[in-house]
Amino acid sequence: KHSEMNAAERVAQLLKDYRVVIFSKSYCPFCVKVKALFDSLHVEYKALELDLIGEDGVAIQQTLFEKTKQKTVPNVFVNGKHVGGCDATIQAHQDGRLAELLSGVQYDYDLIVIGGGSGGLAASKEAASFGKKVAVCDFVVPSPQGTTWGLGGTCVNVGCIPKKLMHKAAIIGEDLKDARAFGWDVPEQVVHNWTNMVDEIQNYVKSLNFGYRKVLKENTVTYLNAYAQFVDAHTVKVTDKKNNVQHITARDFIIAVGGRPRYPDIPGAKEYGITSDDLFSLKYHPGKCLIVGASYIALECAGFLHAVGIDCTIMVRSILLRGFDQQLAEMIGDHMMGHGMKFIRPCVPTKIEKISDGEPGFGKMDSGEIVEGEYNTILFAVGRSACTHNIGLDNIGVKLNPSNGKIIVDKEERTSVNNIYAIGDVIDGKLELTPVAIQAGKLLAQRLYKNQTVLTDYVNVPTTVFTPLEYGFVGVSEEDAVASYGKDDIEVYHSFYQPLEYALTDRDNNKCYGKLVCVKSKGERVVGFHVLGPNAGEVTQGFALGVKLGAKKSDFADLIGIHPTTAEVGLHKDSG
Ligand code: FAD
Ligand code: NDP
Repeated sequence: KHSEMNAAERVAQLLKDYRVVIFSKSYCPFCVKVKALFDSLHVEYKALELDLIGEDGVAIQQTLFEKTKQKTVPNVFVNGKHVGGCDATIQAHQDGRLAELLSGVQYDYDLIVIGGGSGGLAASKEAASFGKKVAVCDFVVPSPQGTTWGLGGTCVNVGCIPKKLMHKAAIIGEDLKDARAFGWDVPEQVVHNWTNMVDEIQNYVKSLNFGYRKVLKENTVTYLNAYAQFVDAHTVKVTDKKNNVQHITARDFIIAVGGRPRYPDIPGAKEYGITSDDLFSLKYHPGKCLIVGASYIALECAGFLHAVGIDCTIMVRSILLRGFDQQLAEMIGDHMMGHGMKFIRPCVPTKIEKISDGEPGFGKMDSGEIVEGEYNTILFAVGRSACTHNIGLDNIGVKLNPSNGKIIVDKEERTSVNNIYAIGDVIDGKLELTPVAIQAGKLLAQRLYKNQTVLTDYVNVPTTVFTPLEYGFVGVSEEDAVASYGKDDIEVYHSFYQPLEYALTDRDNNKCYGKLVCVKSKGERVVGFHVLGPNAGEVTQGFALGVKLGAKKSDFADLIGIHPTTAEVGLHKDSG
């Protein structure tokens, strides 16, 4: 009967008749290896030794090439699906696809990414570029004030992008004060229009939302504007805005759901307070503001709000910028105070009431003293909580750190469930920064689908706090360096400096500052780079490469500066 069939028909018949077909050659060691794999799995297979069937073997090999673009043997098929050669079959065994093919289970997608923010979008595009079938679920639960936004996650909609643009509005305002000294005939009193700024920024953000949707489409990634919850380790229930529900399946999942702002547990917080989720699209002028919190978000927001003419008070529970070098953190505080921002510290809010309906808001100082103030807007920036509480993780056993609800992952970003990974703000013990989430997403997709092994390096990640005087930083704070190496092994080089751009008006009078923290026993290797001044983010980005590559103080000293820039400033030994 075989002799009556042509090669293509014979291949088709074999694939129909047998669950596993191995097109093989009797002398080929790779064919032996692949057969041994199936033997070890106790899976029966049909092996056709092409070298033992004369001309038919040559014709079949040609047919296989036309069908699979694979010339070599072994050429393995499971349940009619082409698996590939020896390496591909072993890889499929290792990543679980072989078991899936053998069981006959078909998933809707190779990968479902939950969360279309910085990390999720990067991972999904990368996975799709390797030919994988990918879906992204992204859904924004409205803030307590009802604010929502489009595709792109925190950074694009309520984080880095609108924040940096408002910071730019602040810089323009400051520059306008200096403009006369540079010959510009600007009026003494220039007025800022809050709603115009918000409209322009929101238009730009909407163009980015549109761009992200387009990019997903171009990369053949399915975008589902729906909230995802795990039903089992391979299935999520997705619910859209209109409450339409569907169940979709995938072999792998990446959780990239990020975080949302926290509220203090005090009366009136959610009813009357706002957070960064609301601020960047606020349709009305915020008026007199109280900002609660003292980290990145609080100080950045206070900085730009003040610079666009808003009366700002910052309520600080303990220290400024926990985790950062405290010398620079206090310099930022002093600079902000010098510019008219008010600080209440140490103090926490205890109650917020609507003035027209009752008493003004209260705060309690550490000393127990009650302070009372009236504000038009209270902005909470008291940290963010990972969005892990309502996504069905308890159904599938993904382990969380009980103290903060973040997902515990290994160095490959795999959770406690084999086919489920997590990246970005939602993972425990890592930095909450956009470029970190993007890098983790890209590298994870490359490891999953391109046989790569490179892990995300979470050490020496540069960052910048966009306060009125920007603070760029890479490495460790002086406090952490002393704790790790001991005070005697640390040498600090530093300098105050005045940027040329501030010279004509003597703006901020020598308030800019640079500091290198070096380890003596490592030949003065720089372990902490800190700079306070204009464009600190741009300055730090370049120097971060040096710090990452192990630069020493002498390397910094040998590098000839670019003149005139702020980055060229020379540092001297701390005599104190
Ligand atoms: P996100 O970008 O938060 O994306 C998660 C997405 O998942 C969101 O769209 C969310 O709605 C969605 N989602 C959640 N649950 C579900 C679900 N169950 N189903 C479907 N979708 C879901 N970083 C910097 O590097 N530089 C900065 O200058 C900077 N400034 C910031 C300023 C502010 C005010 C804030 C708040 C953050 C800032 N960050 C900054 C941090 C940065 O925005 C985050 O680190 C980054 O966005 C994290 O990316 P991610 O992919 O982990 O999560
Ligand atoms: P953080 O968790 O870093 O800081 C929270 C702040 O709120 C701290 O000052 C904390 O004080 C204070 N706080 C907490 N609870 C209370 C309370 N009940 N009452 C009063 N104060 C309270 O959060 P952020 O929201 O500032 O930032 C989150 C992350 O977002 C950052 O870690 C960062 O990675 C990222 N981000 C990055 C930016 C950038 O790159 N430029 C900008 C903005 C955010 P205490 O010190 O006493 O605990």
